[in-house]
Amino acid sequence: MIEDIKTLPLYINGHFINTKKTFKNISPVTGQVLCEVSEAGMDEVDQAVRSARHAVDHAWGKYHPSQRADLLDEIADGIEKRFEEFVQAEVADTGRPIYLARTLDVPRGIANFRTFASILRAGVSESVDSLIGDGSRLLNYTVRKPLGVVAVISPWNLPLLLLTWKIAPALAAGNALVCKPSEETPSSAALLAQVIEQTSLPKGAFNLLHGFGNHSAGAFLTQHPDIDAVSFTGESKTGSHIMAAVAGGVKEVSFELGGKNAAVVFEDADFDQAVAGIVKSAFYNSGQVCMCTERVYVHRTIFDRFVQALKQQTEALIVDLPDTENVDLGPLVSYKHRDKVTSYFELARQEGATVITGGGIPVFGDDRDKAAFVQPTIWTGLPDHARCVTEEVFGPVCHIAPFDTEEEVLVRVNDSKYGLACSIWTENVSRVHRLTPQIHTGIVWVNTWYSRDLRTPFGGTRLSGLGREGGQYSIDSYSEITNVCIKYS
Ligand code: NAD
Repeated sequence: MIEDIKTLPLYINGHFINTKKTFKNISPVTGQVLCEVSEAGMDEVDQAVRSARHAVDHAWGKYHPSQRADLLDEIADGIEKRFEEFVQAEVADTGRPIYLARTLDVPRGIANFRTFASILRAGVSESVDSLIGDGSRLLNYTVRKPLGVVAVISPWNLPLLLLTWKIAPALAAGNALVCKPSEETPSSAALLAQVIEQTSLPKGAFNLLHGFGNHSAGAFLTQHPDIDAVSFTGESKTGSHIMAAVAGGVKEVSFELGGKNAAVVFEDADFDQAVAGIVKSAFYNSGQVCMCTERVYVHRTIFDRFVQALKQQTEALIVDLPDTENVDLGPLVSYKHRDKVTSYFELARQEGATVITGGGIPVFGDDRDKAAFVQPTIWTGLPDHARCVTEEVFGPVCHIAPFDTEEEVLVRVNDSKYGLACSIWTENVSRVHRLTPQIHTGIVWVNTWYSRDLRTPFGGTRLSGLGREGGQYSIDSYSEITNVCIKYS
């Protein structure tokens, strides 16, 4: 919880504003209220959009890229100075293990700003010189301008990481932002507003609203006529609502959406590395990462041994409170989300799954029973069309199935309405090159999972998203690109 703050304010045009209407931020560890949160209504959304418009037209949008780079570094410095406060805010809101906040969330929040600062400093210049029929020449070059006012809407699973993954490049490209983090996890965004307020970023270039989605701040923002683009991470069905909301104005959208990611373990894989990799990819952050593996296909010749090894390692995972030493899984983000995950536990039984391990709520016999825990869970025996094998659960669960041939498993991997990520575990390089172009996902990992260089493209196909973010791909997606063509002789 943020020290000394009982109600988290909005941040509009450089001012912290408390609203009459508030909602409660509930701890998934204790069930207690962490703080009240100011809720933006239509008026606040309108004020935020107007202040962003002014900033992009008259201030921030006119800054030179090198000045923007300096500002991004200032924000990174500010987060670094308050590192531990950000860690505590992430842990309080999400219940995640404290080591994760220290090694992933907060360092990545800082790295997001640093990465786009260095990309701005490196600069890109593209020019094409051509000869035309009359003997004269054409010099073409591209100019990047901000899109304008960008609405940034983010989910609860990696609150600071995902919010700053959008804020940093969108600011880098000169846009002014109106951000709405998830109602489940407002605290690190509130701290970020405090950090930004201390920098020299012009007023209005960053605005923060809190509130819900439908019929609330999220929807009011995406329906506002004066936004130029929406950058959204969250569920696929929310993405489609947002797309409908902006269709009339033909606004730019960038979507990072849901997944039902597969992993394929071939008979020639490094067995131990593959088992450890699948355990990590299924249960990291209690399965609440969009790239987590929920479908595992293992070659039949090693299937039984693999299931046993996976079961053994899964049962050795430590499920406990966020600050417990060596903890692997904390509680889920909320009691509501636990209800969703446990409804799949029930559905798996109805669909005929064999539960290899887990499948319920752990019982500690003490105060820990108040937290939103579930057991890491492995199923097998379900047909490929079962809902538990096709729908995103977004919890610590995976289904494991045998396969016989490369051709067969390729069809099964691609047989999904999603297309975010896939991991392949094999020592056969030819197979890797043969398979990867045929897998319909935006990311394919080979003998690893969730390894990221922030300069590389990230995004999904099908219901998993629209557009690519990362490095120059992000800058391009947050920029209006104009081609200038000069005739000369
Ligand atoms: P969600 O779609 O319920 O909510 C995300 C955000 O959208 C929240 O801030 C919410 O208030 C807002 N929102 C909801 N309805 C809205 C509407 N009609 N208009 C405008 N805003 C609205 O998602 P969630 O439950 O917070 O997050 C989990 C989902 O996010 C999972 O599906 C996960 O796979 C996905 N995700 C994807 C990626 C990726 O990079 N592809 C990363 C993280 C999470």
